[in-house]
Amino acid sequence: MSAPAWAVDLVATVCAEAAVAPPRLLWRERRGGPSTGVARRSEGTVSVRAGSDPLDQRLTLLHELAHWIAPVARRRGRQTVHHGRAFYAVAFELYRRHGLAGADALRLESARYRSALGHAAALGVPGAAGALEVHRSRLRARPRRRWRVLVPEHVIRLERDGRWSVCGVCQQRVVGPNLRRVRHARRPVRHVLMTAASA
Ligand SMILES: [Zn+2]
Ligand SMILES: [Zn+2]
Repeated sequence: MSAPAWAVDLVATVCAEAAVAPPRLLWRERRGGPSTGVARRSEGTVSVRAGSDPLDQRLTLLHELAHWIAPVARRRGRQTVHHGRAFYAVAFELYRRHGLAGADALRLESARYRSALGHAAALGVPGAAGALEVHRSRLRARPRRRWRVLVPEHVIRLERDGRWSVCGVCQQRVVGPNLRRVRHARRPVRHVLMTAASA
């Protein structure tokens, strides 16, 4: 199916402003769920599968256009950074200039990529610092695990328990690098057995 007129116009406007040749826009609708999109430089296309929410459609198209006009993603080791600071500097500017209120852009974008909030706050996007603070205080409010000592610190005494090596004092399995360390240590290795207790 062909893309709606507003989407075709948006592609033309954004690319003209960025002085970049526009991609071919491929548009499909999907039943239910959020919109998704992908920008393929090699094929010269931006594809959108449009969900039902018009704001989400708009943000999805702008997100892919940000990929289209942003400098090529840099690499960190083997991984390419697609949604780093440089990308979000372009994306949030597009959202602001092309009809997404700050709060909507933050809500929709951070629903896709959690890290978007941190980038937006660092870029000074209005409302982002507050939204980030709310997000962090929610994380802090989660019940935390407390740990208590089940068996006090002691020297590990290796014993066999079937195919496993265990500590004869506390019955913890001793495996992998720990087992090698215990076997080859010059001095006795000590440990302590902790257990999670709900707060
Ligand atoms: Zn993306
Ligand atoms: Zn032990």
